[in-house]
Amino acid sequence: MEKAFSVKQTWLSCINCGHKTDLLDERIFRCPRCGDLYDIEHDLTSAGKSLAQYTALFDSRVSAKALNKEAAKYHSGVWRFQEWIMPFMPENKIVSLSEGNVPVVRAGKNLRNWVGDDIELYIILEGMTPTGSFKDFGGTVMMSVAKAAGIENVCCASTGDTSAMAAAYAAAAGIQCSVLLPKGKITPVQLAQPLVHGAKVILLPGDFDACMKVMQELVSKYGVYPANSLNPARIEGHQATVFLIAQHFGWDLPDWIAVPVGNGSNCSSVGKALRLLKRLGAETTSKILGCQSQAANPLALSWNSAKDQTSGDVFAAQDKWKSCYKPIIAGETTATAARIGDPVSRDKVMREITNSGGAMQIAEERDLNEAVAICGKDGYFVCPQTGIALAGVRNARRQGWISRGARVVVVSTATGLKFTDSAAANLQRDIISAQDCKTETVAKILKIS
Ligand SMILES: [Zn+2]
Repeated sequence: MEKAFSVKQTWLSCINCGHKTDLLDERIFRCPRCGDLYDIEHDLTSAGKSLAQYTALFDSRVSAKALNKEAAKYHSGVWRFQEWIMPFMPENKIVSLSEGNVPVVRAGKNLRNWVGDDIELYIILEGMTPTGSFKDFGGTVMMSVAKAAGIENVCCASTGDTSAMAAAYAAAAGIQCSVLLPKGKITPVQLAQPLVHGAKVILLPGDFDACMKVMQELVSKYGVYPANSLNPARIEGHQATVFLIAQHFGWDLPDWIAVPVGNGSNCSSVGKALRLLKRLGAETTSKILGCQSQAANPLALSWNSAKDQTSGDVFAAQDKWKSCYKPIIAGETTATAARIGDPVSRDKVMREITNSGGAMQIAEERDLNEAVAICGKDGYFVCPQTGIALAGVRNARRQGWISRGARVVVVSTATGLKFTDSAAANLQRDIISAQDCKTETVAKILKIS
């Protein structure tokens, strides 16, 4: 089979030792020399475009006229930015479900009061995608690469959202998909999604970290193609988060981008996109606020220790966090999608947060649930992981990391509709049960009789 693109156009590069290899030939996604993860790199020099030329091109693809006229791939809010995401992917290999056209909204009144009304707070609602989570941003690129590489089977371990994404995009690509899920630790919706999309669903009697261990061995010992975020093609697509935010503000980046951190794919990609914009000459950049729940906070703990050792110098913390890092056994939390004790992309997460001059925060369980309830009062039903980031922003404002007047965008990673059980349980006390079916009874409850 003739290659969809050459290794000179797009290649893999080890984040530790710089070893380079061919993206389309790779199956294991661990450097054979040092065992570290890969980044994807592209030759952007051949395009020879300036930042202004790129942004004008991307803006032209948003208008309805362009959408009608141009290639179908630009209906996607990810492939709109193809030149920055996967420039050499031929159109006939692209697997898209028209993902990525999500809104950036100003925080409602209740949320502004809760977080503190002295900052400019926005949310990018990435739950408004085909499978209801931000994973679709990366899924479209990952499955396109798999198709271009001639892959016939993909597999992933998941806390729920990755499996939904992998199953949906595999279905669209005509590729077989298997998912490993921790039994009893995902929501009914998240169990239904891969089944609906025709994936092979395997429940393991352990937690996510146990599923991930099996997954990694399936990859290294049996050559299974990974749909997890160790597959760096996912990271390329997730960069659209930053490009969408920048485009929303006329290519002016906010002061902070706040993300919940589970396995780390979102944080890694936000950082990579910010570095690209900086390299292309963007005048301003954003700091990354990485937020973890109290129950699953191994990275925030190591960042805190490193920062204490460097007297609060966040850039110097980059060299220290590794020696402070310890995997943990994740505790119980409603934010099950980020219930990860040993994040696979931890090196990338910490590199990006420290490089951006950002910070980490730990959200208490009560606060993250409260944030979800408060968002609901403004009309937005967000997932508990979004609650982690919102509570993290509130903490960071109180501690002075985020200054008065700062523009902050919170990445809402999934719709609350995937987490109705925990939301309903938390708000149980607000339910009123009528004694009978009489109109008068209801009128009495409504205090209108
Ligand atoms: Zn290496």
